[in-house]
Amino acid sequence: MPDQVTNYKCPACGGPLHFDPESQKLKCDFCGSVFEPAEISEQYSEANAAAAAAGTQLSESNDVMQWSKEEAAHMRAYSCPSCGAQLICDDNTAATSCPYCGNPTVVPAQFDGALRPDYIIPFKLKKEEAVNKLKSFYKGKPLLPRAFSENNHIEEIKGVYVPFWLYDGAAATDLSYHGTRVHTHTTRDEIITTTEHFQIERKGTVRFKMVPADASSKMPDELMDAIEPFDYHDLVPFDMSYLPGYLADKYDVSSEEDAKRADTRMKNSAIAEISATVSGYTSVMPETEHVHIVPERVHYAFLPVWMLSTKWKDEIHIFAMNGQTGKFIGDLPVDYGRFWLWFFIITAFLAAILYIMLFVVMG
Ligand SMILES: [Zn+2]
Ligand SMILES: [Zn+2]
Repeated sequence: MPDQVTNYKCPACGGPLHFDPESQKLKCDFCGSVFEPAEISEQYSEANAAAAAAGTQLSESNDVMQWSKEEAAHMRAYSCPSCGAQLICDDNTAATSCPYCGNPTVVPAQFDGALRPDYIIPFKLKKEEAVNKLKSFYKGKPLLPRAFSENNHIEEIKGVYVPFWLYDGAAATDLSYHGTRVHTHTTRDEIITTTEHFQIERKGTVRFKMVPADASSKMPDELMDAIEPFDYHDLVPFDMSYLPGYLADKYDVSSEEDAKRADTRMKNSAIAEISATVSGYTSVMPETEHVHIVPERVHYAFLPVWMLSTKWKDEIHIFAMNGQTGKFIGDLPVDYGRFWLWFFIITAFLAAILYIMLFVVMG
């Protein structure tokens, strides 16, 4: 079976390449050489096309099948082109790194045809910046989690390209309000209060460009909404060479399904925007709010997020940092979250496989 995955390696020395947010180039972990993403992209175009054609189906000699049927149905195993070890991923994994040799690995079939994203915002901020944000978050709090006081605990900090749908659309609104104006004036022996009543009508269309909704069921929606906004000036056409060194999943929430979230946001912001034009009244009560969302284009984009997790006072806390702007959100009272759950399931599988391998060697 041909390789289903591609390792991005340094053309100079064969070392692992990763996308460096500082230089916006691919950098070799070993010799420090730097390369333009476009240059590496060209060198890998053939290998990626062949890997995409090989698909993501399970190969027959698949150890994963010996594990729990339910979990195995969502697992994929690829062999690492660099060291030959089996890479265990879930069925949405699009970029990861080999846990044995550390080589960044991309699964080109996850970007094939209709699965190809339109855009990506490459990471702008490094892991250290996420660590610093977490430290300042905990500043003044007595127990800084030890795991984060040292920068080498990489298993709890992951750079993830999260799949997002970006919706264009228009909200056709027809709103009415009941408004009042109250005046009082005082004569010699009376206070006279006059209340005027108004029927206020507003009709109009509010247009929206690229309203985001994350397309990964693993990512807590509230966390992804909270790290917005992303600055779309940095959107560039998608290219796989921005991925090495990060995790990425293809979407598993369809654009139709996610559209409900975007529609609600468009509806609420259209109402807010239009009702802001109703002013000069003593009181305003909404009467009818008809909003019709007219969907337009949907774009598929990968946006950069640092995910952090820590155990503190026996509870798991998760944090996220916008990998472009540095907006940091944390300490949500979420238990594992699906992202970390998958991460730990896969780690457990790897440990079990290692154990079996050792057992075979020993036996
Ligand atoms: Zn090198
Ligand atoms: Zn490997």
